[in-house]
Amino acid sequence: TNWFSHVEMAPRDPILGVTEKFLADKNPDKINLGVGAYRDDNGQPVVLESVREAERRVAGSHFMEYLPIGGLRDFVSESVKLAYGDDSPVVAAGQVAAVQSLSGTGSCRLFAEFQRRFMPHSSVYIPVPTWSNHHNIWRDAGVAQNGYRYYKPETRGLDFEGLMEDIKNAPNGSVFLLHACAHNPTGVDPTPEQWQAMSKLMLDKSHFAFFDMAYQGFATGDCTRDAAAIRIFIDDGHRVGLSQSYAKNMGLYGQRVGCFSLVCDSAAEAAKVESQMKLIARPMYSNPPLHGALLVSKILHDADLKQQWYQEVGVMAARIKDMRGLLRHNLQQLGSPHNWQHITDQIGMFCYTGMSGEMVDTLAAAHSIYMTRNGRISMAGVNTKNVARLAEAMHAVTK
Ligand code: PLP
Repeated sequence: TNWFSHVEMAPRDPILGVTEKFLADKNPDKINLGVGAYRDDNGQPVVLESVREAERRVAGSHFMEYLPIGGLRDFVSESVKLAYGDDSPVVAAGQVAAVQSLSGTGSCRLFAEFQRRFMPHSSVYIPVPTWSNHHNIWRDAGVAQNGYRYYKPETRGLDFEGLMEDIKNAPNGSVFLLHACAHNPTGVDPTPEQWQAMSKLMLDKSHFAFFDMAYQGFATGDCTRDAAAIRIFIDDGHRVGLSQSYAKNMGLYGQRVGCFSLVCDSAAEAAKVESQMKLIARPMYSNPPLHGALLVSKILHDADLKQQWYQEVGVMAARIKDMRGLLRHNLQQLGSPHNWQHITDQIGMFCYTGMSGEMVDTLAAAHSIYMTRNGRISMAGVNTKNVARLAEAMHAVTK
């Protein structure tokens, strides 16, 4: 018997597929602007100094045992404080149920499964557009999905009216997936006033906010400011859910280190909720990986190391901001007829250029410049050496 002859080739992942095409290109000047991973001005991956120091401190550790199902306790408690705030009343009251997760993807997956089991009548409202994997995650968890308006192509900014209307029109008690900061792929975030209005309306509608925070620190360069939306919702009395990832802000991509939390009504409720989170995790992967969690907890526990890390996040965010300025400047110098202001208005790791799929195809075929077909540039891949070539190519395809 042939067991697998009916298995068809799966579609390529829209983001990781870009890297595959990039790797196959022989042009030495090729540029990969697909995946959202930080690079320095030489186009090289970066290991943060604070992470290096944490590595020195954990080196030779005798501890190689399994972590508990919920992960490293110190790591989880420091993560929760990083997101909700050192003096957060819900943290102090023990209302936050939390487990270590397999980075941001794993946190979202745990929540999607939790939603299916314990919030069975809710569907999930996902921004249009969003990180493509969100759709896969909630699909595999068997939760129905709806889109809510987020991005307005005409203004290359937030469709705030559409978003508010969609929040209002969703059935009471819906789950809304919100990007806490540095929205992927658009680089467009609500203002604090807009977050406040969204929070009020979502309270009126008894909606549940699930924040995906994959870029804390990358939006403004300041980890506290980047957590503002979550804290606005908590102050208003929301019981939110949260996915945290240390992939980007600590450069721990491959270590798969993150945290999944749910704010409950009481410590007693949080204990029950946390026990169910573990029951979901146990058959999926048994327990999370150790090394990255040790590194993060070393950094967050030590005031000096934490300060050093804050600065390093600030440096990464600032370099990206500089590249936005340079790219826009170069396009204007070339006499581009388009208004590229959105390049500098948008924040975080990505720029949603407005280029069409055909233009993206030409950039790849004629210029060896690779990005996702929605016209999203990972600004982290832009540097002082390739920005002129990128601007020329973008000008050539958008003339
Ligand atoms: N959520 C968003 C919005 C992202 O952009 C990403 C990564 O690109 C993730 C979650 C998950 O990343 P990871 O699983 O590597 O933490």
